Amino acid sequence: MARLRLDHVSKRYGDFHAVRDVTLDVADGEFVVLLGPSGCGKTTTLRMIAGFITPTAGGVHLADREVTGLPPWKRNAGMVFQSYALFPHLSVAQNVAFGLEMRRLAKADITTRVAEALKLVRLDHLAGRLPRQLSGGQQQRVALARALAIRPDVLLLDEPLSNLDAKLRQEVRVEIRELQRQLGLTTVMVTHDQEEALTMADRLVVMNEGSVRQIGGQRDLYERPADRFVAGFVGRGMFLTGRVEAPGRFRTEGGLALACDGGASGPAVLALRPERLEIGPAPLSGLDNSLPGTVEFISYLGAASDVHVRLSPSDRVIVQVANRGGDAAPEIGATVHVGWPATAGRLFAPGGD
Ligand code: ATP
Repeated sequence: MARLRLDHVSKRYGDFHAVRDVTLDVADGEFVVLLGPSGCGKTTTLRMIAGFITPTAGGVHLADREVTGLPPWKRNAGMVFQSYALFPHLSVAQNVAFGLEMRRLAKADITTRVAEALKLVRLDHLAGRLPRQLSGGQQQRVALARALAIRPDVLLLDEPLSNLDAKLRQEVRVEIRELQRQLGLTTVMVTHDQEEALTMADRLVVMNEGSVRQIGGQRDLYERPADRFVAGFVGRGMFLTGRVEAPGRFRTEGGLALACDGGASGPAVLALRPERLEIGPAPLSGLDNSLPGTVEFISYLGAASDVHVRLSPSDRVIVQVANRGGDAAPEIGATVHVGWPATAGRLFAPGGD
């Protein structure tokens, strides 16, 4: 039984569809991430779950109850905002108590729950402080404690880590995920950060232009992207445009003849990933494709380097080469050979990004 269900939910502003026909079931204890570029409708979707925005069509069901028209305080959703939205004149404890007071809990219960929530986020020693006396990371934890204190049916996180520096963000990711697991909290998080989504989610919902493009686990999205947009947004996708001449034969606009995996004849886009390509000084044997090219650019990224190779006047690929000590990466201007098995490429209809 789903803890949270969105049933054909849409939100229109005049003629503009901010969210279009989103259907999603989130299971009890599941951590689902809404991932997509800016403006794709993820925040609007989250706010419809929280009750800050009413859908123009469709229904929201939370813990076996239809909550579509209910205001936020009448549904049991705990939300953490990107800006934290703490009350500056209230202490940490008073901020955490806020949602409980709105729900008219008894004073003694409020005290117990506030202490409990602050302990969970390890801030019990700062209960009397004001928000401005806290670091960004601590403020973020107060916002989380405030959401947890209501013992929510669903925890909603709107880009909760975007105001933290890179190192802290990595730590807080793990902290939130551990806490979520320990409490068995059903959680929906919004982010545009692919790495954050991949490291935290049980399941991802990839959105673009108001619509869901694909729902799945990390491996599904990476290995079997539903369309060109997902292939480009999850992991790194490179695209060669051209046409399938016959099943298994692809010709790029730049004239390269490539082996591909099946495909119906006609215009198509071949998606490749830098980490699936191989590179060497001589033609690569045992691969369906091996093409000569010239190294045009190299970016050194520590564990690996990206080698940009020109294969034809209009075809360029990036090959990811692991840096294992030695000086394996070729040099700019060198002639190299790039290869991959036909199954490493995926064909998509042109357009669709
Ligand atoms: P971001 O990551 O930038 O926050 P998002 O994916 O969360 O983006 P939303 O905030 O959900 O995007 O907005 C989706 C679209 O709806 C955007 O194009 C936005 O401009 C539009 N939109 C949001 N609120 C309104 C409104 N009140 N009136 C008109 N259009 C709106």
